[in-house]
Amino acid sequence: MPFRDLPVRLAEVRARIGEAIARGGRGQTVTVVAVTKTYGPEAPLAAWEAGLRDVGENKVQEALGKIPRVAAPLRWHLIGHLQRNKVKQVDPFHLVHSMDSARLGDALATYGAARGRPVEVLAQLNVSGEETKGGYQPSMFVQEAARLRDLPGIVVRGVMTMAPLDADEGMLRSVFGGARRCAEVLREAGHPAMELSMGMSGDYEVAVEEGATLVRLGTVLFGARPA
Ligand SMILES: *Cc1c(COP(=O)(O)O)cnc(C)c1O
Repeated sequence: MPFRDLPVRLAEVRARIGEAIARGGRGQTVTVVAVTKTYGPEAPLAAWEAGLRDVGENKVQEALGKIPRVAAPLRWHLIGHLQRNKVKQVDPFHLVHSMDSARLGDALATYGAARGRPVEVLAQLNVSGEETKGGYQPSMFVQEAARLRDLPGIVVRGVMTMAPLDADEGMLRSVFGGARRCAEVLREAGHPAMELSMGMSGDYEVAVEEGATLVRLGTVLFGARPA
C-alpha cells in the first residue's frame, strides 16, 4: 500500500500543530492542506483515507490531469503561480492561494464575474523580498486592499506567504508576522480575510504559533517527492 506511514505521520503533525496552537495562544483552527504535487492520484486518495479533506497542487495543468482520477470529494487548493491566460481553469479549485499581482487579481475577478460565481482567493505576499518569489510587496498593500474591495468577481479570504528556505526562527517570525498584518489590512478594508496560509514541512510549527490557519504540507506527510 502506498504511503502506509501517512496515518502515523499525520497524527504526529496534528499533535505538533496542537502544541504550537497552545504556545501561540491564538486559539485558531488549523487545516492541513496535503501537498500532492508530483505524485499521482494515489497520494490524494491516501490523504482522503487518512482523514484529510484538503489537498494542494502547485501546477494547474498537473492538477487538472489528476483531479478526475481521484474519486473522493476532496477540496483542491491551487498553491502555485497561475498565468493570467489560465484563469478559466480554476473551476475545480476550492481556493486559489496564489493571487500574486494586481493584474492576476483583475483577470480572476473578470472571470469570476463572467461565470457568475466569484473566485475564492488568498493574496500572496512576498514578505521576505526575495527576487525569485512572486507576490505583493507588503508596503504596497494598503492601496491594493482597497482596490480589491471593488472587484465583485473575487472573494479575498486572506493571505498566503512562503518564508525563505534557509530562514532562521527570527526571520520566520518576521515573515509570518508580516503576512498576518497584511490580513489585518484586508479586514480593515472590509474583506472577509480570516485565513493565513503559511507554513510548509520545515517551518509549520512557527507558522502556527504566528497564527496560520492553513498549513501546506508535502514531504512531512508523504516523504521525499519524486523528482
Ligand atoms: C511544494 C509546496 C509546499 C509543500 O512543501 P513541503 O516542504 O514538501 O511541505 C507548500 N507550499 C507551496 C507553495 C509548495 O509549492
